[in-house]
Amino acid sequence: MESIKAQRGTQDMLPAVAGQWQAVEGVMRSEAEISGFREIRTPVFEDTRLFQRSVGETTDVVQKEMYTFEDKGGRSVTLKPEGTAGAVRAYLEHGLFNEPMPVKLYYVTPCYRYERAQAGRLREFHQFGVEMFGSSLPVADAGLIAFANGLFDRLCVKNLTLKINSIGCPTCRAEYAKALTAYFTEQKDRLCETCLSRLDRNPMRILDCKSPECAEVAKGAPHILDYLCDDCRKHFEEVKEILDSANIAYEVDPTIVRGLDYYTRTVFEFVSGDLGAQSTVCGGGRYDGLVEEMGGAKTPALGFALGIERLLLVMAAQKVQFPEEDPCELYIASVGEAARKKAFLLVQKLRDCAVEAACDEMDRSLNAQMKYAGKLGAQFTLVLGDDELASGKGIIKNMKTGEKKKIDLDNDFEGQFAGISTEAADGEGLAF
Ligand SMILES: [Zn+2]
Ligand SMILES: [Zn+2]
Repeated sequence: MESIKAQRGTQDMLPAVAGQWQAVEGVMRSEAEISGFREIRTPVFEDTRLFQRSVGETTDVVQKEMYTFEDKGGRSVTLKPEGTAGAVRAYLEHGLFNEPMPVKLYYVTPCYRYERAQAGRLREFHQFGVEMFGSSLPVADAGLIAFANGLFDRLCVKNLTLKINSIGCPTCRAEYAKALTAYFTEQKDRLCETCLSRLDRNPMRILDCKSPECAEVAKGAPHILDYLCDDCRKHFEEVKEILDSANIAYEVDPTIVRGLDYYTRTVFEFVSGDLGAQSTVCGGGRYDGLVEEMGGAKTPALGFALGIERLLLVMAAQKVQFPEEDPCELYIASVGEAARKKAFLLVQKLRDCAVEAACDEMDRSLNAQMKYAGKLGAQFTLVLGDDELASGKGIIKNMKTGEKKKIDLDNDFEGQFAGISTEAADGEGLAF
């Protein structure tokens, strides 16, 4: 029979790399909580209109990449292509705006985009993201960037370039849009069909079209920084000043516009050169108009998202050391049926005390059991046979040093073993 394979653009997370995911997510969660963010989990699918309205009708994401389908009740639903829209919806739906401001949320979530499958671009991928509602101050923008910067430090990721830009507010953008429309109208013949339709509706989206010809045309386009109003200019200057004072290095890159409609003022990306072409590992910015757009009160807000798969690729390229998986502490080998049952009971006692222990579950020979214990990386072994059962005593062997210690099988076995293993521990630290 034909075997069924995983869907194109999806990836299984196998046990061999699960430890890396757990380590990375663990650092993200603890760093987020230290900085005052609290976790939110929103559904994987939402009303399609949520993304049309927030991400934007004319974005590549909405026009080309969403997993949209009709459910059995005839409703149009979409698998979330990013995390912000759902977080904002939940923020409004559950009145989180009644809590003391700023409201700070974080999430780890799968996201779905129907993109052409290629290296580093998955159709199901995972994001760590944070959102912060209520502050319009430049210190919030700089704080968010500093948080991302510190997170990369804690993950031992190096050589990232922080690029920042300001894409202004609706006031300055109106002027900018005119300039863009004029520029792109001259180059009309070179634009793709999607971009032609964007020309009148939202010319800024042409700047992040993935078609190579459009990208080429975009290179000569006017820059938003030349069109910022006084307030936006001042805000951007202050963000840069705070970053300078915190010794956070950045480049101002006027070509960064982020591919989603909701951004205003500060936008930023952390870019890595370790995956061949420059690739964005983390991106975000301010979105002061979104909450109102979604039916809430006017609320300044900002956030960023970080692609976990891409982060892991960068970490692999940089040979970042992950913490080793906990090895088996004690393997109890057995000879004969009665000894196997005794081994089983002793293993249960150890597991009840959170000690990783194992015994024979395969009816292996003693020789094969010892080999298997070696594969598990067992730090100690104990062999049970008729003699041990009769005397109620066994010998714990330290597999590293060869040292042997007597243990009473019937009297506080777990307590005695704890003493032996603590004594032998050499206090190795984790990588991060
Ligand atoms: Zn402005
Ligand atoms: Zn285009």
